[in-house]
Amino acid sequence: MMTIKTANLGFPRLGKKREWKKAIESYWAKKIDKAELDQTLQGLHKEILTIQKEHHVDQIPAGDFSLYDHVLDTSLLFNIIPERFQGRPVDDDLLFDIARGNKEHVASALIKWFNTNYHYIVPEWDNVSPKVNNNVLLEKFNFSKEAGVNAHPVIVGPVTYVALSKGGDQSFDEKVRTLLPLYKEVFESLTEAGAEYIQVDEPILVTDEAKELQDITKEAYEFFNKEVPSTNLVLQTYFERVDLSFVGQLPVYGLGLDFVHDNGFNLKQIKDGLFPKEKALFAGIVDGRNVWATNIEEKKALIESLQSYTEELVIQPSSSLLHVPVTLEEETLGDSVREGLSFATEKLDELYALKQLFNENDDTLYNELKAQFERFESQSFKQLEYDYDSVKSERSTPFKERKVLQDEVLNLPDLPTTTIGSFPQSTEVRKYRADWKNNRISDEKYEEFVQNEIKRWIDIQEEIGLDVLVHGEFERNDMVEFFGEKLNGFLVTKFGWVQSYGSRAVKPPIIYGDVKWTAPLTVKETLYAQSLTDKPVKGMLTGPVTILNWSFERVDIPRSEVQDQIALAINEEVLALEEAGIKVIQVDEPALREGLPLSSEYHEDYLNKAVHSFRLSTSSVQDSTQIHTHMCYSQFGQIIHAIKSLDADVISIETSRSHGDLIQDFEDITYDLGIGLGVYDIHSPRIPTEEEITVAINRALQKIDRSLFWVNPDCGLKTRQEEEVKQALTVLVKSVEKLRQDS
Ligand code: GLN
Ligand code: ZN
Repeated sequence: MMTIKTANLGFPRLGKKREWKKAIESYWAKKIDKAELDQTLQGLHKEILTIQKEHHVDQIPAGDFSLYDHVLDTSLLFNIIPERFQGRPVDDDLLFDIARGNKEHVASALIKWFNTNYHYIVPEWDNVSPKVNNNVLLEKFNFSKEAGVNAHPVIVGPVTYVALSKGGDQSFDEKVRTLLPLYKEVFESLTEAGAEYIQVDEPILVTDEAKELQDITKEAYEFFNKEVPSTNLVLQTYFERVDLSFVGQLPVYGLGLDFVHDNGFNLKQIKDGLFPKEKALFAGIVDGRNVWATNIEEKKALIESLQSYTEELVIQPSSSLLHVPVTLEEETLGDSVREGLSFATEKLDELYALKQLFNENDDTLYNELKAQFERFESQSFKQLEYDYDSVKSERSTPFKERKVLQDEVLNLPDLPTTTIGSFPQSTEVRKYRADWKNNRISDEKYEEFVQNEIKRWIDIQEEIGLDVLVHGEFERNDMVEFFGEKLNGFLVTKFGWVQSYGSRAVKPPIIYGDVKWTAPLTVKETLYAQSLTDKPVKGMLTGPVTILNWSFERVDIPRSEVQDQIALAINEEVLALEEAGIKVIQVDEPALREGLPLSSEYHEDYLNKAVHSFRLSTSSVQDSTQIHTHMCYSQFGQIIHAIKSLDADVISIETSRSHGDLIQDFEDITYDLGIGLGVYDIHSPRIPTEEEITVAINRALQKIDRSLFWVNPDCGLKTRQEEEVKQALTVLVKSVEKLRQDS
């Protein structure tokens, strides 16, 4: 019998109680010095390694622990430094400045890591001088060894790294070729230091782009095979299938494949004989991206079938565990759901149970986990009947006719102005909420505070002269968690944080049961705001696609059904707002684009379902009620048709950083519904000038019918300071007033 090993691909950096975030933010705020930061992080790094060791992982990753982001670490390792930051010592302060920007220079862009909610720092190649800097990866590997764990180094592979980069005059292939000798140098140093193998992450190979990258991928791995023959490379992929007829032929020691998110295709290709038996198979069998306990019996069967196709089998999570919370230990959840959950640490136990079963014939832990899973499965979380057909998924009249009625009701001026929803979540706002959550202040006191904030900001908006006002979202911690706390079927954990970008963590709610709306969620605050002004106040909701995408979803029913359940709940809230007299309702869908599957063969289906759910949640209103939506990105490209078929009366979108492209997309399909292109970038503390805003509006008006055009900032204003917001919005309104006079 062959023995099985276990490995891990990456562990959450945050720490059980977000110690990582706290240390880094304290350093930024100059509350601790570099020495203290280093000491805290070393302690945390060691703890993370130790947890994995104590949970019996054979091969523990080294190099996944980072000060900010592993892609940025790779950039620093190879001296790919954005031009504006060049000439400084390559150290942690440089790293933070590239990631966050400083007084002189803007930060590098942040982009979603494949189809996850993790963001990486985009490498910039303009005028770079690649070389190996202080070899931090080697340091991390040595650190892990000193901590007494059996570590293997992890690095982003050259093809993926270049694919995620921008800038520079070199072609794609030239960039890869520039990097190959540098990778070689690092690989050699690691092998010399005792690395048994190196995990080279190449998730780009699961995307549609992989086909065009075959030649350079082959060249890269043939180079390594020839130049560093004593180094064992494991080519690691995740989040989808690979084309095994190609990847299987690459000259590497092992292949890491995802058997959870591959839609069954990796296993199928193996059964078709496309996996060379002499290679080690690193099989991702435990879901690295969701929080549910593994059906361990099913995994046992999977291992049995894989065993006949390789001589060396390593079982591991399907991806880095970066995307799930650390542990269930401190959660106080009822057993009925808890037994069905598994966070990073618990996932390691699942792997251990399987290893014990196969290697030692010891089924103790296996049986325990199996029984737990069965108890969980035997409960029925499917209790409600939904009558989807009774809810409208199409507005009763076409946009043009609705618009006439809405214009009558709202009576808005030429180029109406509005904002995207949130106003600053000041320290005070966050403090009141924390005090209230921890029972330090009463419900009444908290509500009174929220009301005061709403009133203050309604006055500010009136004063500035905006046309459609918002209540400001002061009662919300987060646009998804807030709804998760209030709707049935969701569970909100205490410490279930995952890293979103840098030190920012989110706590996705867990959808475990049927979603149901039982009482109004936002009506009170919205109505209060409306009672203070004669101008329309826009109700503010999060849409079904975004709520689903930013939650951990149940897997016992199809994803589209969960999405439609949420849609019906949002529809109830939309109707409750309408019933209460609210005339404008915004349903935000910022996650619609990022949820697009990696494989294009699923795009159409995904978009159809997304559009359907959005429409279920917004189509039952009267013609005269105006539905808005908002998205915070601007590269629509192929999804622009879907955006149009949402049939929202008004869409507001982020644009200030790529104006031209966006208008092009909208022009190509003659977008003829209401549209507000963000006229200034809210991510920067800079106050825009009247001239800039006027130019942006005029540029848009060359392509977009004036009667459809709205003027608004790029996104919500919750991360800005109060003074910045007041000044920026004043400039915005002034610019519009001039344009109105001139016309
Ligand atoms: N209404 C939300 C806000 O203003 C929208 C946030 C978002 O688009 N991510 O904060
Ligand atoms: Zn936004």
